[in-house]
Amino acid sequence: MAKGKSTFASWYCKDCNTQKKTTAYNKKNNDKIAKELSMFCKNCRKHVDFKRKDTKKGN
Ligand SMILES: [Zn+2]
Repeated sequence: MAKGKSTFASWYCKDCNTQKKTTAYNKKNNDKIAKELSMFCKNCRKHVDFKRKDTKKGN
């Protein structure tokens, strides 16, 4: 049960640069995770592409 090495990714709206949410994922599955996601932005009040920004926690 080796936990750890999770990478945290924040999603930023391309239009207004608002951070939507932070998700944690395992680096192993990195390829499976999209670099862009279309989500609804409350700020823009429409669906926009969100950019992923990886952040590491700890250390
Ligand atoms: Zn936005």
